[in-house]
Amino acid sequence: MQAAARSVAVYPGSFDPIHNGHLAVISRAIAIFPKIVVGILENTGKDALFSAAERVEMMRDIYREEPRVEVRSFTGLLVSFLRELDARVVLRGMRAVSDFEYEFQMALMNRRLHPDAETVFLTAEEEYTYLSSRLVKEVAALGGDVAGLVPDQVRTRLEQRYRRLTHPPTR
Ligand code: ADP
Repeated sequence: MQAAARSVAVYPGSFDPIHNGHLAVISRAIAIFPKIVVGILENTGKDALFSAAERVEMMRDIYREEPRVEVRSFTGLLVSFLRELDARVVLRGMRAVSDFEYEFQMALMNRRLHPDAETVFLTAEEEYTYLSSRLVKEVAALGGDVAGLVPDQVRTRLEQRYRRLTHPPTR
């Protein structure tokens, strides 16, 4: 593996929205890899609450003073994104056994599509093992407080978004 390809780890995901579990993975990764590219998937196949542009904006805002973290969006296959970046390392977070099967399938499929790529799993922080974007959205949608689970700017955006969805502006 070329040194440049080894030094970049790509952390792909929907990040809809970003939460502290994701940030904990990035903090740990920064201690291992000189550069992390967060790849925000545009075509999630799911109904996204935030557009890819909004998710990129939020993530860039969080890491605006951290030059080792670059935030980009991508469409299509992860392996194509890796090739575009000349990167070979995929970073994924592993919460529990429930994540294992899907992550294992994805890692093997990506290896088949790009034999030189390696998926590296980092374990979740104990306090965030239960945390997922889906749960954050469910709680926020019902008016629950997600302070301490997501960065402040994400919390504010969630509140605004759900207020707009439940009380659309009248014309
Ligand atoms: P997906 O790629 O399925 O859309 P997400 O965008 O939610 O998933 O997450 C991106 C990556 O972060 C995945 O590897 C996921 O397992 C990991 N992740 C999600 N939540 C946590 C958490 N609480 N702790 C550690 N890793 C997490």
